[in-house]
Amino acid sequence: ETIIEVRGIRKVYAVNQTALTVFDGLSYKIGRGSFLSIIGPSGCGKSTLLKLISGLETPSGGEVFFNGRRIDGPPKGMIYVFQQYTKSIFPWRTVLQNIRFGLDSQKSLPAREAHEKCMEYVKLVGLQGYENYYPYQLSGGMQQRVVIARALICEPDVLLMDEPFSAVDAMTRAILQELILKIWSTLPITVLFVTHDVDEAVFLSNRIVSLGRAPATVREDVAIDLAYP
Ligand code: ADP
Ligand code: ADP
Repeated sequence: ETIIEVRGIRKVYAVNQTALTVFDGLSYKIGRGSFLSIIGPSGCGKSTLLKLISGLETPSGGEVFFNGRRIDGPPKGMIYVFQQYTKSIFPWRTVLQNIRFGLDSQKSLPAREAHEKCMEYVKLVGLQGYENYYPYQLSGGMQQRVVIARALICEPDVLLMDEPFSAVDAMTRAILQELILKIWSTLPITVLFVTHDVDEAVFLSNRIVSLGRAPATVREDVAIDLAYP
């Protein structure tokens, strides 16, 4: 079953009064529940593709469908995790308060239920005992866990991650990779994962799309799609 469809998408940026064509008719379908990695060299359009899918960028042509509906701006049910986690975390809020923020932006639960739900996600990302710590008291990997918990507490259908682990050291990255695999197998979620690390893509995902070098014309027939069992 298709959850996201990119249909004939074009994206042209204006750079120094010249047009930079990143996509020129890209079509692709993403299955519900898949863990899709998007790989390719720096500047090929990985982030742009993720932003087009999530409605953060508007296509110059073509359409994006989410759950069968054409998107027109950021849809509910998709949530974004960026590489620069320090930019999306509130330094003046504790771990629990940061995670709680994800919940508040969605719906208003009674205080007790909200607290219990936050604690559930604290556990999911392995931050028990750190609820009342402030971000500066945490390692980079722990801060990224806070960001992941805050994203997941909204119960999104789709988690979009743009090089989420490239700012942490190799040991931490391995632990976060295990965590995201656990999350993917626990929750009914579709993950779109941008990385320039082929090993990471192969380790994590059950499907990989490889984009060519921009400003190449990227068409469906040049997108490599490897399916793993
Ligand atoms: P990747 O994520 O694969 O590194 P990006 O999607 O960030 O690639 O960028 C693709 C190309 O589009 C790059 O050449 C980049 O400089 C350009 N680009 C991205 N965003 C913008 C923008 N807002 N304005 C102009 N050019 C952009
Ligand atoms: P990444 O490789 O993770 O996309 P970058 O540092 O290349 O990160 O880009 C950071 C952001 O700046 C991107 O999300 C993109 O939208 C924007 N950007 C990239 N290139 C340009 C550009 N030439 N002009 C304006 N914005 C850009």
